[in-house]
Amino acid sequence: MGYNALPLENLIEQFASLPGIGRKTAGRLAFYVLSMSEDEAKAFSDAILEAHERIHNCKICQNYTDSPVCDICSDASRDKGTICVVEDAKDVVAFERTHEYKGLYHVLHGLISPMDGIGPEQLFIKELLARIQDGSVKEVIMATNPTAEGEVTAMYISKLLKPLGVKVSRLAYGVPVGSDLEYADEVTLYKALENRNEI
Ligand SMILES: [Zn+2]
Repeated sequence: MGYNALPLENLIEQFASLPGIGRKTAGRLAFYVLSMSEDEAKAFSDAILEAHERIHNCKICQNYTDSPVCDICSDASRDKGTICVVEDAKDVVAFERTHEYKGLYHVLHGLISPMDGIGPEQLFIKELLARIQDGSVKEVIMATNPTAEGEVTAMYISKLLKPLGVKVSRLAYGVPVGSDLEYADEVTLYKALENRNEI
């Protein structure tokens, strides 16, 4: 399949490299971009570049932010004694949607997955341990997905945390094993949080 125009092929390739986008959809998106006005196309590409340039990890919780410290970590009304550990930034959004969790987060940016060559040293685990040192954190909730990788990661981290004298708990999942936190509804997620078990 070729459109005899290299820039168009390149654009299709870029869309096709996105998660969940097949070649056919990529073609449709690329043709849509061509139908945009010059200004619209520029706004679209600027948004990608600006997000890349300005968004970085919060220096405390590693969530995405455009400030040195994110809005959640700098909110004085949040409970600084509880940290909810999640796989990625999308999970923070899912928990915030419940409007029930008042603690802080820690974003690992991945899970331990030997098959994908991802070891604990590639995740933000030592940054989490550093947050426990001053004694202000009373409980760490392991909220990684209930998949094999999520369980292994939760167990690995809890073994490191326990000697530090902090309570470690795990979400009580009502969501089927293997499903994604991101897609759990607010009530399910809130119940999983409320009914968490100490591990
Ligand atoms: Zn933060």
